Amino acid sequence: MTPRMHLFILASGSKGNAAVVEGPTGSVLVDCGLSRRELHRRAELVSCDLSRVCAVLVTHEHSDHTSGLSVIAKHFDGPLYATQGTATARTHLERLPFTCVSHSCSLELGGMSIQAFPTSHDVSDPMCFRFEVREQGKVADAIAWATDTGYLTQPALQALRGCRVLGIEANHDPHMLATGPYPPFLKARVGGNSGHLSNVQAAEALPQLLTDETETVVGMHISEKNNLPELAAEALRQAVQDRAEVLLGSRAEPLVIW
Ligand SMILES: [Zn+2]
Ligand SMILES: [Zn+2]
Repeated sequence: MTPRMHLFILASGSKGNAAVVEGPTGSVLVDCGLSRRELHRRAELVSCDLSRVCAVLVTHEHSDHTSGLSVIAKHFDGPLYATQGTATARTHLERLPFTCVSHSCSLELGGMSIQAFPTSHDVSDPMCFRFEVREQGKVADAIAWATDTGYLTQPALQALRGCRVLGIEANHDPHMLATGPYPPFLKARVGGNSGHLSNVQAAEALPQLLTDETETVVGMHISEKNNLPELAAEALRQAVQDRAEVLLGSRAEPLVIW
């Protein structure tokens, strides 16, 4: 696939999440768990032009995905999309002028066709997205990722398949989670069906998601306490072998996939 879109993962992890997908005629910001200042600083580092952002999509209400939204919304007059569940889940979100959509909605933004799909997380009505550019009725480019999900739902598996850029959560190493500092209830939450995907789960899912179109696999939402980047990368590399490059989204610095 010749890239028609570019992905800027400005932050990924429990300290904050924000990503920009740049399409042919505009960009979309997915989540904003960074301050406005930090968002702009990181975007500048990777030459991501935030003035092209024509819409904001919100996956779910957790603060690592929404803490910067109120301030961003003050300086932005485009639409903010979230499910009704997300839009009404927290007081600071209730005040924002959301356009409510279903977790299976289709949107056309920035020259991209966007398909939402449901995730499984301990929040109100979460979703993630697949981005496509179509030319002459065919998919010319596709990017999708899924994070904050205890398992991959059927629609998620379908959406992640056949992407040029495929992002998948590799939140924790099961052994590190089991022996780590979290209290038992939190260990159960993170490792449960409404928590986060582990390195092992991501690696197990990958063989059925990779196709000839897949060029880049990105491990995302890597836990600071229950994982190591090396472990996540190793698990993904073993699953991917030489079929695609493996990169990691980071909480500390932005990552661009051109
Ligand atoms: Zn999160
Ligand atoms: Zn979350």
